Amino acid sequence: MTIPKKNVAILGATGMVGQRFVSLLQNHPFFCISGLVGSERSRGKKYAEICRWLLKDQLPSETGALELRGVGEFGEAREEDIEIIFSALPSDIAKEVEPIFAKKGYIIFSNASAYRMDDDVPLVVAEINASHMELVEYQRERRGWSGGIITNPNCSTIIMSLVLKPIYDAFGIESVIVSTMQAASGAGYPGLASIDIIDNVIPFIEKEEEKMHNEGRKILGDFLDGIVKNASFPISASCQRVATLDGHLLDIHISLHNPSDIDTIQKVLTQFGKSCSHLPTAPKETIIVTSDPLRPQPRLDRDAGRGMSITVGRIRKDNVLKNGVKLTVLGHNAIRGAAGQSILNAEWWVKYGL
Ligand code: NAP
Repeated sequence: MTIPKKNVAILGATGMVGQRFVSLLQNHPFFCISGLVGSERSRGKKYAEICRWLLKDQLPSETGALELRGVGEFGEAREEDIEIIFSALPSDIAKEVEPIFAKKGYIIFSNASAYRMDDDVPLVVAEINASHMELVEYQRERRGWSGGIITNPNCSTIIMSLVLKPIYDAFGIESVIVSTMQAASGAGYPGLASIDIIDNVIPFIEKEEEKMHNEGRKILGDFLDGIVKNASFPISASCQRVATLDGHLLDIHISLHNPSDIDTIQKVLTQFGKSCSHLPTAPKETIIVTSDPLRPQPRLDRDAGRGMSITVGRIRKDNVLKNGVKLTVLGHNAIRGAAGQSILNAEWWVKYGL
């Protein structure tokens, strides 16, 4: 069955994640960019004029010619031709405006953290918990709106959870210890001052560790009768900002409930993600497992599967933890960790008529 194309708008279109939305939505089979929204500084200007385009692929002239609108102006009336909104707004702005849009009947796929942990808001990575999107029905009932807010986790949590899910289902998990090396683009544009990050590692990213603790357990939780019961195992995260451009590298140590061997773990990981493989933004392989001890590396592996595959390497026993296994994981923070994940979630929503 062919799905008629839907017009979509992008909030925060000029930012790091907004530009990824613009790029990934070019010639998309389900979606067509119809509205671009920025801050007051951008309002009324052509996208190509005001946006400092940072991606390697060319900004398409058709999108470059679109005029940016302000959030207030865009939200004034329901634009009948637009059904879906992708949000790449800073969290404080998202907190204010996303409910206004949901009240107007739009479905918002948001990257902002503002509503991720609310009981009636789905926190989704389509391969893991697409069914949680049904929470929107409860959200509508409770909040009295006809639209909805669907969120995806923060970038490092998405990358970590894609590895934890198949392991959790196959062997159970007792505990997780994770340490991240997060790229500079994760802080948005212009992000950190170059003088702070060049030749450096910063051992703190505000609120990031709490997000990994809480969001990871919510998306791996069970969903029944409108309630998500979080997974019960503890996660301990340490988050670092490093001087790479794109691609977050994670070192993960897992205590399994049931013991396993490396070959079986490897098999479980490579088989994961098939539930979405028919959707346009899904990569051929959700998880690529490498046996090269020098991989994954941000520079070499972040673009795997057009930025939507994650790469896992160095799978080995952890002799300190009970039934311990440790591995190194890499994913593209702005594609799999943000815009690409939102689009994949939206593809699922549209495909299954949710
Ligand atoms: P960014 O580069 O700083 O971009 C922010 C965007 O929001 C810009 O388009 C900016 O527009 C717009 N904006 C700022 N203030 C606004 C206002 N008052 N009203 C309307 N628009 C406003 O940030 P980002 O890295 O793209 O992050 C966007 C969101 O995604 C954040 O919530 C972030 O936490 C989340 N996220 C980011 C990543 C990542 O890898 N970067 C990954 C996962 C999630 P102007 O250009 O017009 O000022």
